[in-house]
Amino acid sequence: MARFQIVSGAGADHGAWGGATAAHALAAMHRDAGYRVRVALGRIVWPDGETRRLCGDVEDWQITSLCSGPACTRETISGGFCPSHYRQQYRGRPLTAIAEPVERVPLKVRLTRRALKRLGASPARRAREILERPS
Ligand SMILES: [Zn+2]
Repeated sequence: MARFQIVSGAGADHGAWGGATAAHALAAMHRDAGYRVRVALGRIVWPDGETRRLCGDVEDWQITSLCSGPACTRETISGGFCPSHYRQQYRGRPLTAIAEPVERVPLKVRLTRRALKRLGASPARRAREILERPS
């Protein structure tokens, strides 16, 4: 079953819902809220016009198809997969969770020679020159 992220026109996130199509997922969300809706021929069937106006149909919501890869919440590009899981699938690899990208921040830290030794690190050549410079 595919998963869809459903966001209201006003931008309120209503979470991820399962269904064969966006209409099925939206209908599942409405049913969970107590409305008697179903899907026929790909369209939501409303009990009456008032419920239709109150709930809003597929075009009234922002519905995004989510990747069916393990632990993935990215948007799909093809075959029900995000770019990373599509690539895994295409290459015949087992589908694995994609790690979030790591932010690398350059950092300059001044340490004493003793602190470096405790960390098991050896200072870079330039640092050694500075550390070993006679004062
Ligand atoms: Zn994915």
